[in-house]
Amino acid sequence: MPHTPHPPASRPRVRARRRLRVAALLASAVSVCLVAASAPPTPLGVGDRLFPHLGNPGYDVAAYDLSFTYSGSNSEPLRAVTTIDARTTAELERINLDFAHGKVDSVEVDGEPAGFAAAGEDLVVTPGSPLGEGERTRITVRHTSDPVSPDGRGGGWVRTADGLAMANQADVAHLVFPCNDHPSDKASFTFRVTAPEGLTAVANGLPTGVDRTGGSTTWTYRTAHPMATELAQVSIGRSTVLHRTGPHGLPVRDVVPTEHRAALEPWLAKTPGQIAWMEEKAGRYPFDTYGLLMADATTGFQLETQTLSLFERELFTDHVYPKWYVESIMVHELAHQWFGNSVGPATWSDLWLNEGHATWYEALYAEETADEPVEARMKAAYGASDGWRAKGGPPAAPKPPTSGSKTGIFRENVYDGAALVLYALRQEIGRPAFERLERTWVARHRDGTATTADFVRLASETAGRDLGDFLHGWLYGERTPPMPGHPDWKPITAERAPTGAAGKPHGV
Ligand SMILES: [Zn+2]
Repeated sequence: MPHTPHPPASRPRVRARRRLRVAALLASAVSVCLVAASAPPTPLGVGDRLFPHLGNPGYDVAAYDLSFTYSGSNSEPLRAVTTIDARTTAELERINLDFAHGKVDSVEVDGEPAGFAAAGEDLVVTPGSPLGEGERTRITVRHTSDPVSPDGRGGGWVRTADGLAMANQADVAHLVFPCNDHPSDKASFTFRVTAPEGLTAVANGLPTGVDRTGGSTTWTYRTAHPMATELAQVSIGRSTVLHRTGPHGLPVRDVVPTEHRAALEPWLAKTPGQIAWMEEKAGRYPFDTYGLLMADATTGFQLETQTLSLFERELFTDHVYPKWYVESIMVHELAHQWFGNSVGPATWSDLWLNEGHATWYEALYAEETADEPVEARMKAAYGASDGWRAKGGPPAAPKPPTSGSKTGIFRENVYDGAALVLYALRQEIGRPAFERLERTWVARHRDGTATTADFVRLASETAGRDLGDFLHGWLYGERTPPMPGHPDWKPITAERAPTGAAGKPHGV
């Protein structure tokens, strides 16, 4: 489904407020209004099967303006102002935002003070008068943003050796800032980060200003393309920003801990070639800059934050993994810029579209540059696939996250288990059609979101025949279907299947 990018942020028109015409209402109607207004605020969601309380109904965010003031200590709350420009899609007496880990000082709606209350992980805002459908509105929240994780819950801010980075996927952007925390609502972002002298702040997108006053500096960045909250990135640290040039003059910008700059350079020098490789497969790089953020933190994962992927520095400097493997992980996060970021998932059940494709290009890069055959990897995945489906659900209908699990919904069924679906599809329709499908997919849904059904439809259209039944088994089956062209491949029974991450050292 084609997606229209959000309009650029602009000052909201002064709304014609719909004052309650109390005098014209019958007494009974008035009492109904009073009951409605005094009902307790409740957490809402957009109905995501895996995260029922993520996102909120009734509005569409066009732009976020996030302003953070960092004290210099990553164990103290940041002072923050979040401004949200949105358009209502329904009449709203209250506006639910997702926000769960900071103190709210005040909320304004279109410049006027508004009431607010916490309900579950929502911040429920009550404007002075209800908002009509189709109105532009500006919500300003003054709050703190606490980088110390709530008990047992990682993510959001990541505390590094020298400051902070961000890792919001899938459901923790709202531990950092008030938002509509669901990938179906992309918006443009402006970041303004104020930090003491000696620290460098970098965020998604390109810099638009650096303002030094007194002992601190304010760094401003803006995204040129719409972005999901889960892909936001803000890095604050003793960093050096390195610049190089990618294909067609693309500005490539890496953020590294200054003390590790020399050791990281040989890795970073590979990025322009990797972008050129991905462009051969999937078409033009979809954003206005790319680069790696090397964080001095042990996160256990890498993350494709838009235009600035987050990596653990030690993955590159500790020499635990083979060089070809580390390079293939660089390509995994790069591939996400097309698959997962530019084309985002409409719901979290569509996560296989992100991880399956990123794993696919990770494997293909290893095959083409390091003689690690895709077929061998896929044969191993085929053997494990029934076990992965039993544990995490089929690729396009994953099981909900179990509470307390660090893995969440990021299980093998959506990584190699979903790359296996793409391999089966390539076996079924042949390489030329498969490669055409991949390029058309990212071109058609660029800067938007898409569903599994959209992918099945485009695959059928590209192959010139209905692939609905074929893909249904692969995407939703409890058992892995036979592999076209490999009748000898057999699944290992669920009882004997690997239970861990199949030897994969890092979530990606
Ligand atoms: Zn990934």
